Amino acid sequence: MLVEEGRIKAVDTTGARAPEDAEVIDYGADAWILPGLIDTHVHLVFDAGDAPVDHLAARDDDSVLAGMRRAAARALAAGITTVRDLGDRGYLALRLRDEAAARPYLQPHIVAAGPPITSPGGHCHFLGGEAWGREALIAAVRERHERGCEVVKVMASGGHMTPGTFMHLPQYPTEDLRVVVDEAHRLGMRTATHVHSAEAIGRVLDAGFDTLEHLTFFTEDGPRPTPPLVDRIIGSGATVSLTVGVLPGEPLSPLLTDCMRRLCPTWARLHRAGVAITAGTDAGICRYKPHDVLPYAVTDLAGPIGMTPAQALAAVTSVAAAACALTGVKGCLKAGADADLLVVGGNPLHDLTALRDVRSVYRIGRLL
Ligand SMILES: [Zn+2]
Repeated sequence: MLVEEGRIKAVDTTGARAPEDAEVIDYGADAWILPGLIDTHVHLVFDAGDAPVDHLAARDDDSVLAGMRRAAARALAAGITTVRDLGDRGYLALRLRDEAAARPYLQPHIVAAGPPITSPGGHCHFLGGEAWGREALIAAVRERHERGCEVVKVMASGGHMTPGTFMHLPQYPTEDLRVVVDEAHRLGMRTATHVHSAEAIGRVLDAGFDTLEHLTFFTEDGPRPTPPLVDRIIGSGATVSLTVGVLPGEPLSPLLTDCMRRLCPTWARLHRAGVAITAGTDAGICRYKPHDVLPYAVTDLAGPIGMTPAQALAAVTSVAAAACALTGVKGCLKAGADADLLVVGGNPLHDLTALRDVRSVYRIGRLL
């Protein structure tokens, strides 16, 4: 691979000689080079501790920003060269992104949503994104666009982290969700929606969101996917960003264990039907989801969801790049793409755990 000024200039697999003036780095026969990995759902503001919401509330922006720098550096060191931040406070992910503008190799490329749009008192209202009614929702989308967000995130249902909200209950009527999607698309932004509730899944499909986060089909009786709803997702063209990836050896909550058991067959069916699936780890929200957990998510995609290793690798590279509107720029080894590269000590097509044997990481052509 020939890299020049931060971009891939050429890729050769025939063994051709490097140009005379090129500096040659040979990683040896056992090393494999991949595009840097892409996590489609992280929260850099959350500290991956036991009480991330309380800890965030107790800190001022400068202190939170310092933690975000550490979280971003940890992700990058694991070869995660792009993260889509789907919920910060006070647009801090944009501050982090912009402060590294002169030295982008210090952190992953950040695609940011800013504070997620939520109903008054709704899921993650404490991040500051409450908006209700057509005018307020349009204003919220425009504000994110003006600030420089590339994606708008909407909480279409309640969530487990926010007392007083319920995973099985929708937060917005369909018309309001459609207002957000239409305004975001008009401004050239992508749309992502946090959706646990089965009822809300129908609404977000009607509204036309680009990526569906979590997708747990919650009813009052827990996850209950139904064939008609699954068929609608298959026909929608939406990308599904699955909340997979946990550190091994950590005791998981009974809720999570039960969800995975009930949902994996449905997620596997979506995959077999050709739905675009990415890994959105929700990194930061608990102790077993640190900001570098993505390599473990890849194994989950291959195991319970039934992807081949090549498909699982695509889910965290080229498919994820498409979900972030970065096709051809990230997640591929092609001339013209950014030289965000991960070198690992083994063939991940044979053994995905090779992703955790990181030899080198390059960001914009620069060795970490
Ligand atoms: Zn999240």
